[in-house]
Amino acid sequence: MAISEGRVQYQMLIGGRWRDAEGGRTLPSVNPATEETWADIPDASVADVDTAVKAAHDAFESGPWRRMSAAERGRILRRFAERIPAAAEHLGRTETIDTGKLFRETRWQAGNVAQIYDFYGGLADKLMGEIPPAGSDQTLQLVVREPVGVVAAIVPWNSQLHLGAYKLAPALAAGNTIVLKPSEEASGATLEFAKLLAESDLPPGVVNVVTGGGVPCGQALTSHPLVRRISFTGGVHTARKIIPNTARNIARLSLELGGKSPLVVWEDADLDGAANGITAAIFAATGQSCAAGSRLLVHEKIYDDLVGRVLERAGRIVVGDPMQPETQMGPLATRAQLERIGACLEQSIASGARVLTGGGKPAGVTRGYFFAPTVVACDHQDFPVVQNELFGPVLSVLRFKTEEEAIALANASRYGFAGGVFTRDVARAFRLARAIRAGRIWVNTYRVTSMHVPFGGFKESGYGRESGVDAIRDFTETKGIFIDTSGEPGADPFVMR
Ligand code: NAP
Repeated sequence: MAISEGRVQYQMLIGGRWRDAEGGRTLPSVNPATEETWADIPDASVADVDTAVKAAHDAFESGPWRRMSAAERGRILRRFAERIPAAAEHLGRTETIDTGKLFRETRWQAGNVAQIYDFYGGLADKLMGEIPPAGSDQTLQLVVREPVGVVAAIVPWNSQLHLGAYKLAPALAAGNTIVLKPSEEASGATLEFAKLLAESDLPPGVVNVVTGGGVPCGQALTSHPLVRRISFTGGVHTARKIIPNTARNIARLSLELGGKSPLVVWEDADLDGAANGITAAIFAATGQSCAAGSRLLVHEKIYDDLVGRVLERAGRIVVGDPMQPETQMGPLATRAQLERIGACLEQSIASGARVLTGGGKPAGVTRGYFFAPTVVACDHQDFPVVQNELFGPVLSVLRFKTEEEAIALANASRYGFAGGVFTRDVARAFRLARAIRAGRIWVNTYRVTSMHVPFGGFKESGYGRESGVDAIRDFTETKGIFIDTSGEPGADPFVMR
């Protein structure tokens, strides 16, 4: 990175070389805590994307990556993983400046990225084929797994390194080559990470990073004829634009999309524990998480008590500079987010929703895209604040009487990413966990995660799964091979055997 007039000037990594965008065009990167522009990133054109995809395609077709032994690929990835922790501080700091996410979380996530590369590096040579039983003992049947080819990986601005690792690590371990596009709102940490990739033993062109707008850059990438697999994380509105592109290139697609996840609190729950879980679900990462628990459903008998505890907990959250260790909630990542959340809230208030705390900028804040922890009481599910994914620190609250009603309310969403259940009754916890239509359920906790467990959504939260052992298979094709072992001359094709 070069510093010009106090701003960092980034380049893209294409074919193992650092490049500007065509015509030297750039986009500004704004620090959401200060509203200052801190960096310029390349604004890739369709031609730049084409160059990157061709570099990935050449590296796939002619380079050593997919031909080397899986064990060697795994070793390269694990050696790469070993170098990441030393850079975690710098990567975390960059991501915090870029997105406003708490430094202690971005630094932790950068360190965790090392474990993700280590995990999938370790799986590279455990990707087994099969020898299915043959119809005749004169034929050997094999099912082998091969990499898909060029993978287009697209990530949003929240958790760019972490989300990127869940795509790159398994795709690389399986022998694919990649073009990665982070969000134009936040590409700095990914471009810093690309420096580590460029210095690693990965051959040139195996990982390419392009930066720029969703259109033209993401659009060009997902419709490119040489792309064979698209791994997308972002909003459902963008997914709807990407799906038609795959009608052209017939690339396989996985979609990790948004959520509007319910938190069901039963009357027998540990209420302080539940209030902590709810706080983690909606106010951690300023609510900018696909798994955010943003719809609180409370049993009527404990409604006042629990909501009181949540309000007390929300009122104690330290909002401020995301670099400071005492801060518990940073700003939203963009001005557009701030305006969108404000507008949705106003619309809901106009139709009868009641703000119990928060509802706008925290008192005394004059700059930065800060939004106070907000809780909104809703008498029904039809308010926009209950239906729309806000991707911010806004919790809607409804009450229920029966388990049947709780399940119906929990599932009354077009999304199905995650859910939380708070109860001391194990049987009820299991019933609710099975009844909620979502890809991940937490019981008496929230946000705990592990790379051994797949994540991904039901319904409009997307399709496909990331994380877990099977993720590596998702970046492969199977190939069936039939070998005649009879030792006899080729059989007459018109004689059935
Ligand atoms: P977004 O607007 O959908 O953007 C996601 C990515 O898609 C960005 O890199 C964006 O680039 C790119 N993009 C935009 N238009 C495109 C197009 N026409 N073709 C191809 N790519 C395009 O999402 P966001 O607002 O940044 O992120 C928040 C959303 O992501 C929320 O819905 C959240 O729930 C979801 N999310 C899901 C998960 C998960 O694992 N399921 C994790 C995190 C976030 P630009 O930003 O440069 O336009």
